[in-house]
Amino acid sequence: MLSNKFTINDFNKKYPDDDACIAEIFNKKFGSLKECPECKKPFKYYKVNNRKCYACQFCANQIYPLANTIFHKSDTPIRLWFYAIFLFSASKNGVSAKELERQLGVTYKTAWRIAKQIRMLFEENGKQLDNTAEADETYIGGKKRGGKRGRGAENKTPVIGIVERQGSVIAQVTQHTKSSVIKPFIKNHLKIGANLMTDEYKSYGTMTEYNHQKVNHGARQWVNGLAYTNTIEGFWSQLKRSIDGTYHAVSPKYLQQYVNEFAWRYNNRFYKSVFHFLVANI
Ligand SMILES: [Zn+2]
Repeated sequence: MLSNKFTINDFNKKYPDDDACIAEIFNKKFGSLKECPECKKPFKYYKVNNRKCYACQFCANQIYPLANTIFHKSDTPIRLWFYAIFLFSASKNGVSAKELERQLGVTYKTAWRIAKQIRMLFEENGKQLDNTAEADETYIGGKKRGGKRGRGAENKTPVIGIVERQGSVIAQVTQHTKSSVIKPFIKNHLKIGANLMTDEYKSYGTMTEYNHQKVNHGARQWVNGLAYTNTIEGFWSQLKRSIDGTYHAVSPKYLQQYVNEFAWRYNNRFYKSVFHFLVANI
């Protein structure tokens, strides 16, 4: 599980005000520059008072470090944004907009927007797996009771996923779970020739690009040699518990964002300072 060594005391010490937060972003984005991009003299920029910008000591060229960040054009104090990121980093299951509204003292609308922007930090693009991987699908949302469960359940949103044993997960919200979606998803994310484990669901067919082994859940078979899908099933149940516990319900439109957040938490579960990892992505 996530172990966040960065405490609220550390946070308050390191980020006492907006300027400290802006300086953090400025240093992350421009700290390694050796010379002013405008006048080419040594890089000596100072913070302009009461403005979210820095200026060159020689030519007065201005740099706005918050441009192209998740804070761009926000009226909310940057320190509150940082605090919101801290809350996300300190939480195991995510933070609802309602919770942010309460903790930050902002309107629900603002809290919702902040949460949505922060979730963008959890996107992981272009990930590829190359070890033994398990692929599976699940269904999220819809009616809690009654109706069909599992594949084909009504009002539920399908999510397909692939996880490397002892490694990373990639999960994607989809329209359906036919092989026209599932097979390209697997090929995009798992190196050809790797070991692929699935159950007997027909959409997987037999993928000859892989060492594809199956477990027959229909026949109440859960492990067949190396073939089992317990890792991805564990991820699904964690994801569902988190959505039930923290968000209660997630509309299909935003489900991908939540899925990204949980996948990110899973993939960075051994990382020591989640907060700084997130800030580095701003
Ligand atoms: Zn300059």
